[in-house]
Amino acid sequence: MEQYKKIACRYCDAKLPNAILELGSMALANSFLTKDQENEKEFECPLSITRCTNCGLVQLTHVVPADLMFSNYLYVSSTTATFRKHFADYARSMKEKSIKKENLLAVDIGSNDGLLVSCFINEGMKAVGVEPAKNLSDDANKRGIETINHYFDENTVQQIIKKHGKADIITANNVFAHIDNSQSVCKNAFDLMSDDGIFVIEFPYLVTMVDEMLFDMIYHEHLSFIALTPLKFLLARFKLEIFDVDIVSSHGGSLRVQIQKMGSKHPISKRVVDMLKSEQSRGFNDQPIYLDFAEKVYHVKNKLVGFVDQAKKEGKTISGYGAPAKGNTLINFCKFTPLKIDYIVDDNPLKQNMLSPGAKIPVVPSSYLNDHPTDYVIIFAWNFAKEIIEKLQHLKNKGVKFIVPLPEPTIVS
Ligand SMILES: [Zn+2]
Repeated sequence: MEQYKKIACRYCDAKLPNAILELGSMALANSFLTKDQENEKEFECPLSITRCTNCGLVQLTHVVPADLMFSNYLYVSSTTATFRKHFADYARSMKEKSIKKENLLAVDIGSNDGLLVSCFINEGMKAVGVEPAKNLSDDANKRGIETINHYFDENTVQQIIKKHGKADIITANNVFAHIDNSQSVCKNAFDLMSDDGIFVIEFPYLVTMVDEMLFDMIYHEHLSFIALTPLKFLLARFKLEIFDVDIVSSHGGSLRVQIQKMGSKHPISKRVVDMLKSEQSRGFNDQPIYLDFAEKVYHVKNKLVGFVDQAKKEGKTISGYGAPAKGNTLINFCKFTPLKIDYIVDDNPLKQNMLSPGAKIPVVPSSYLNDHPTDYVIIFAWNFAKEIIEKLQHLKNKGVKFIVPLPEPTIVS
């Protein structure tokens, strides 16, 4: 399968208009290269967003086949303490939300290395993961966390129902925005859910992305940039409704949306009503706010590139901290190379000794920074900037300066 240009909207099937923001043709943000692959031609695809003028969904103009992105996925959720705590709290709060209290079945879609599934098990529930990346699902199964190595489709749903019955809790963390066929996910979730079950999805909130200029969350894996209004519209097509919503701080501002079968037992919370009203009154259901966002994105890029060019002219050295996918959007949008950024440190051993996609900047363990400190450190994992700068206090004391690139490039010294 090849990449393709999206003609019709993922949520409503209307014809999509032209792009509103173009970041250029780019390598896949999670396709790190081994050093042997340095001279091989990388897969590239345009990275642009458009907005459906019918339902309002903001989405990528081009879709890369999922197999290219997720078959050997490097993102392992257990790597940070913040995520571990986030998921433990999450499992507990979902259990409290459930109408039924005994013998609960939870299904986690896109279960990664099984972190959330294990949190559900710790809460005394039956739990199953669904994970298309073979390396991650194998790893989870080896540790006794039941994980189906497949996409969340009709067959997977039937397999779960046959073995365990219908699900009381279905979760999809940072998965819903990654899926091309959102309509079939809604249909399959409806089929898998018990009548008073809940379906909980978490995704980066479009409004936060625009408000805080978090355009680095645009990469090929994130097919949709979701606000509550278009989501409500999509769910209604499949007899589902949003009954509650929370803003959670992971990934720099995500929504956790709780969904039930239309007319089921949970009342619609005031937060849902207020958020829908706020999207309307702030102009998020109209085009101009997105055109304005695109203008600002080009401005931030120019500022960061200008700063790096100036530092290099002064003979300074620069490294990067954190090699998350979003860092690669920023690096490749700014066309940084090893001539500008010497290396990037990352604590994920799967990324170490690799080259970053597109820019081919070497990724090394964080200890490398202590032995080879640079004048500046750009924090690509900016949502952990505070933790990182605290951890690197000893370098700061030696005069190393930190650059937090977003929402507006800022130097912390
Ligand atoms: Zn649409």
